[in-house]
Order: sequence, then C-alpha cells, then structure tokens
Amino acid sequence: MYLDNSATTQVSEEVFEEMLPYFKEEFGNPSTLYSIGRESKKALELARKRVADAINAKPEEIFFTGGGSESDNLAVKGIAFKLAKKGKHIITTEIEHPAIKETLYFLESLDFKVTYLPVYENGIIKIEDLKEAITDETILITVMHANNEIGTLQPIEEIGKIAREKGIKFHTDAVQSFGKVEVDVEKLNVDLLSLSSHKINGPKGVGALYIRKGTRVVPLIHGGGQEKGIRAGTENVPGIVGFGKACELAAAQLDEHYDKLSAIRDELIDKVLTTIPEAYLNGDAENRLPNLVNFRFKAIEGESLILLLDAKGYQASTGSACSSNKLEASPVLTALGLDPVDVHGSLRISLAPESDAFDVDAFVETIAESVQRLRQMSPLWNQELDYDNIMCKKHSDTCKRC
Ligand SMILES: *Cc1c(COP(=O)(O)O)cnc(C)c1O
Repeated sequence: MYLDNSATTQVSEEVFEEMLPYFKEEFGNPSTLYSIGRESKKALELARKRVADAINAKPEEIFFTGGGSESDNLAVKGIAFKLAKKGKHIITTEIEHPAIKETLYFLESLDFKVTYLPVYENGIIKIEDLKEAITDETILITVMHANNEIGTLQPIEEIGKIAREKGIKFHTDAVQSFGKVEVDVEKLNVDLLSLSSHKINGPKGVGALYIRKGTRVVPLIHGGGQEKGIRAGTENVPGIVGFGKACELAAAQLDEHYDKLSAIRDELIDKVLTTIPEAYLNGDAENRLPNLVNFRFKAIEGESLILLLDAKGYQASTGSACSSNKLEASPVLTALGLDPVDVHGSLRISLAPESDAFDVDAFVETIAESVQRLRQMSPLWNQELDYDNIMCKKHSDTCKRC
C-alpha cells in the first residue's frame, strides 16, 4: 500500500497512453515548420490550454519548465532580478519547500533581504504579521498554498489582496494543492503560481509556471527563445503532453476526489487519535488538504516507525523526501514550535484517490502495534505510567490525563 503520494505519484494509464506517440512517431521539434514539427507544436499548445483551463488562466500565461523546483526558482529569481532596482526585500514563510527556501538563501547572498513569517502551532501565518513585514522595499511575497509535510493551507486569497493593494508581486507554490483543492488564479489573486506534473499522476521532470499577463520575469535559461524567451531549450514534448493530460483529469475529478479523500482522511485522523495514546495531529485540523495527514507519537523515532510499517507493506514517510535522508529535524515541524524530541516522532501519510481498497482499521492497528513496540524499547517512554489507560486529547471526558 503506497501512502506517500506527496512525494510522488504513479503515472496514470490515460496519461501514459497519451504520451506514447510523442516518443517515436511524433518526435518532431515543435520549433520546425514541416508537418511532423507542426504536430508536436499542436500537442504542446493543447497541453498548454489544458494546464491553463485547470487553473482558470489563459494559455499564453503558462510557461513549461522542468518541474516544480524550476518553476519556484524562475518565479523567485525571475522577479527578484527583474525588480532589484525597485527594492530588494522579499517576504515568505518559515515552512516553504526547499526549492523556495534555498533560492531565497541564495538571493540573501546577493544582498536581498528576506523576512520569514512565523507559522505558529497550527502551521498558518497571521495576516497581521504579513502587514507589519511589508516595507517600501518589498518587491515579492512568496507563500506556499499547501504545505508538503503537514498539508495545511495558507490564506492565499487574503495575502493576494494585500499584495495587490500594495503593488507587490505575489507568488504561490501550488504543487501540493493542485488537484486536491480548487486552484483558481483569479480567486487566489496571484501573479505567479508553480505546478509540478509528477504530484498529479503525470511524468517526472515537467512543470509549469503561471505568469499573469503584464508580469515580467528575467529568464533563468537563455538560448533558442522557446517559451517566449522565458525558458530556452527544445521542449520535453512527451512530458508536457502527459502533464497536460494529467491536468485535465485532475480538474475533471477534483470534487469527486476531494469527497473521497477527505472522508478517508477524517476516519484515519479520528481512529489514530482515539486508539493510540499520546498521538497528535500536526498542523491545523480544519485548513488542510484532503489527502495528507501528519501525526506525531511521543517517545518514538519516526524513521524506525517507517521501517516497521514498510515491513508490513505500508509505504509512508516521516516528512518530505528531500529532508528524510539527511536525518535532521524537520524545519517545518520545528517551525510549529514543537519540542525538538517530538519532532522526530512524526509520520506523514498521503493518500491517492485510487486508495479505495484502503482498510483504515487494519492500517491504524498496524501503526498502534508498531508504536507500542517502539515505545517498549524507548528510554523516553515512561514505563511507570499506565499509558494503555490514558486516552487521547479528543476524548477529554474519558481521558485520565486531561
Ligand atoms: C514536490 C514539490 C516541489 C518540487 O517539485 P519537483 O517537480 O519535484 O521539482 C516544490 N514544492 C512543493 C510544495 C512540492 O511538494
């Protein structure tokens, strides 16, 4: 049972079929004038329309890239370099994906100033903090729509309104939210928005940056003028075709998937919190993605739990794939203000819409057994307390601890 869909997803059958001809028969370069090139160009433009339609944008506002990380880099560096003469201040949050965070660290080395807004225990920024952070020098606000580790949603519409009032460009990384909740560039009031194909059952190595008409960015890759000079290099036609199809499917199935996933998610949260002692939900209980939950269990190592679950056939993770092989405390969980010891006891579960056969009871039972086993070996677990009889936070009426 694959439960790490926030890390990546499987290419769907329909997407795969759509891509196939563009590897062999339809191999033309879209920039050429003869018929096979024109076929590739047509396929590219259909994909552009599908991506645009899925986020309520215009096709000419979609720029294909090599993935979510590149889209984030293009948005942030592209605006920073374009507007550096106007000001060198950027506002973001403490919990951005490394593709944003590392880009900002790089810009700091070039004398840009960055404000990192705190997210508090629920994982969400406060609008008041944002208002206070804005200065005459602020050129860009970049705040992710949904967090990839805890699944919380930020108040993007409201941030966008403020940015627009102040004449500041606003970018959001919608890689995790797209296909899970509504992503509409008009409603969200964004100027730039990043997407990635492989998080929505499309192929890896493809993404897009939405750039609102009238917003200008400096390109990262210079060359043959593809993507209107914003991203040079012969286009990854099969990848883009697959991404376009994945966008079309994601948009068409959004409501159905939302209902299905959020029902499983709620059942999972309820069962974990009620059956496992000292289990907690990380991030806000309400403003969250339908497919992602992140728990923490006292006195265990998340990595050990992942291995025990894997041995029972469940693939989940402790947090983001990017930080899990570094074995450092998750910066996202740390930003929630959690005890540094507790940060290590986390488990991220991200569901796929095809998780129909997912037996929540059996899974929660497996987690419970694994957690108990690890606690028996843990020096952090207080053996003298009768934890079996301590209920969770939710059941405060029967809870001996509360
Ligand atoms: C996965 C992810 C990215 C990076 O996308 P890639 O296509 O893997 O480069 C960026 N931001 C968020 C929030 C992500 O989850």
